Amino acid sequence: MDGQYLPMSEAKISVLDWGFLHSDATYDTVHVWNGKFFRLDLHLDRFFGGIERLRMKLPYDREAIASILNNCVALSGHKSAYVEMICTRGSSPTFSRDPRQAENRFIAFAVPFGSVANKEQLERGLHIAISETVRIPPKSVDPSIKNYHWLDLVKGLYDAYDKGAETALIVNTIGHIAEGPGFNVFLVKDGALRTPAFGVLPGITRRTVLDLCTEIGLPVTGGDISRAEIKGADEVFITSTAGGIMPVSRIDEAMIGKGQVGPVTRRLMDLYWQKHDDPAWSTVVVYP
Ligand code: PLP
Repeated sequence: MDGQYLPMSEAKISVLDWGFLHSDATYDTVHVWNGKFFRLDLHLDRFFGGIERLRMKLPYDREAIASILNNCVALSGHKSAYVEMICTRGSSPTFSRDPRQAENRFIAFAVPFGSVANKEQLERGLHIAISETVRIPPKSVDPSIKNYHWLDLVKGLYDAYDKGAETALIVNTIGHIAEGPGFNVFLVKDGALRTPAFGVLPGITRRTVLDLCTEIGLPVTGGDISRAEIKGADEVFITSTAGGIMPVSRIDEAMIGKGQVGPVTRRLMDLYWQKHDDPAWSTVVVYP
């Protein structure tokens, strides 16, 4: 923060920062696995795209941010980490209500790697409930700008907990499946994959699945998925930087496929982790 590297407990932001008061911020999260960033370029592209569309400015270019992220990981010593870069609107020295007068701020941190699904859930598949909650419409908040507008997702989570499920999927403005708290979703039906394309964050793990499918010749499309279609799928999995590709074995009352991790999901999970050693998709962290 502010050109300094600090222990997490000392990293503090002003309560007057618009990022805190109005969720006026964009961010990105990349992970490090066995000492290597995974697809760092794509995360930096998305982060800089968001900054530009929110009309924010930072005194750092891509190389400077890549180097700050490297230093956060190197100084923390973590070999597997969850690394977040954040740009907030900041605040104005005169307390102006005009966002153009705010001084934008940059914060980055590295913490140990965390996953949406724990070890047991990765082995047996997650139990998900579909909530009636509608994801904030793209015309209100552009979902391709990664953001902290999570009240809909958190409401979805509570709805899921009330039904005894472990996490949630919420719907888009036309009532089809959108995404969940921190993840995208795919279904597999008769050997072909589909993932929602409207009203969702274009996740980097989602993109990685699309790339892997192209590489191994699996048919995949972005398109609408109804509640009935997802419950009748052969396989379902979710995707996130926080955990990678994670199987789903139950949605509401419906068992998905045989209620176990399916073969397509298993193949993609294996490939995903293998790709972490591919120099084309990874960047080595330089530790001191
Ligand atoms: N959707 C939302 C709302 C998210 O917040 C995230 C990640 O935090 C994702 C999807 C998954 O994106 P990625 O694969 O880039 O982590």
